[in-house]
Amino acid sequence: MKTRTLKCAVIVWLLSCLAVPAHAEWVRRITDGIMGTRITVELWSDDRAKAESAIDALLAEMRHIDDSMSTYKPSSEVSLVNARAAQGPMHISKELFDLLTTAKEYSVLTDGAFDITYASVGYMYDFRKHVHPDEAQIDRALPAINYRHVLLDPKHQTVQFSQKGVRIDLGGIAKGYSVDRGIDILKSLGFTRMYVSAGGDSRIVGDRFGKPWVVGIRDPTKGEGEVITRIPLVDAAISTSGDYERFFEENGVRYHHIIDPHTGHSASRVRSATVIGPYATRTDGLSKTAFVLGPDKAMEIYNRIDDIDAIIVKLDGSVIYSKGIEPARRAAPVPQPVR
Ligand code: ADP
Ligand code: MG
Repeated sequence: MKTRTLKCAVIVWLLSCLAVPAHAEWVRRITDGIMGTRITVELWSDDRAKAESAIDALLAEMRHIDDSMSTYKPSSEVSLVNARAAQGPMHISKELFDLLTTAKEYSVLTDGAFDITYASVGYMYDFRKHVHPDEAQIDRALPAINYRHVLLDPKHQTVQFSQKGVRIDLGGIAKGYSVDRGIDILKSLGFTRMYVSAGGDSRIVGDRFGKPWVVGIRDPTKGEGEVITRIPLVDAAISTSGDYERFFEENGVRYHHIIDPHTGHSASRVRSATVIGPYATRTDGLSKTAFVLGPDKAMEIYNRIDDIDAIIVKLDGSVIYSKGIEPARRAAPVPQPVR
């Protein structure tokens, strides 16, 4: 009897060893409307229900980031900071404090091209309603743009604006940050191969079983779907900023959503800039630089930063590549998309 039980146990154990996952697959979901953009998640999973609930958790985190950081929401933490931080030090969440610290680092790294206080003038633009400030309004508000006006006290976890009129907006970094947070969540749940994007900010973990992911970079001089090149990526983030994203034209002037902190006007020195690096927060924060500083100065900065590569489409439509990409591009044929 004992032997029979043992035999049964062994058979059950053997069967359980043989019980490979019934079905492993790429699970993909596209969701619109968080942070005003499209979220795409794709991950490899042997358990569809687990994958779907992981994606739910990721989207919940992105909604939380939107609720806390959107300037369109009057009750968001960032809106409260804008309303109160000029009056004195204000205690904020660790998450916001850390992101403000990172934002200031990017301002230093980009010679002030990335500056979340752009919003001191930027709030007067409404690209959907074709509204822009006039010169007098810009002149009055311009002195409030300067990342040095944002005073951060790590000991007390407070933020203060050094003068009235300062406003911040994390629109230039929050999507990248939300992608990184989403990836953190999926990794913590055990997933090892994934792609997450929020609008123009994406990050990839792992490969597609021996093959890289291939991300197309849109040609800003042509319609949607036309690409200037395709980049094979494994374990990397990629962000593209383009003047075609949110814009309107009036009397021959193109008003679009990247603002030059020095002038308060749209920064139009390139057509698009793509930055590749380890984290989406970083690539998002750095992709605006070329619009403000122009292709040459920006490429100088991108080439100086070790973990960053870049592709810039100049105003005349020509394309320049950072030092890390140029040799590989010459050597290899352009890969075809896998999706
Ligand atoms: P997306 O919002 O589609 O990811 P970008 O990554 O190009 O597009 O970021 C553009 C956003 O960055 C703008 O909508 C605005 O919120 C913010 N922004 C604009 N100018 C600046 C600037 N000089 N520094 C920091 N953020 C900026
Ligand atoms: Mg972005």
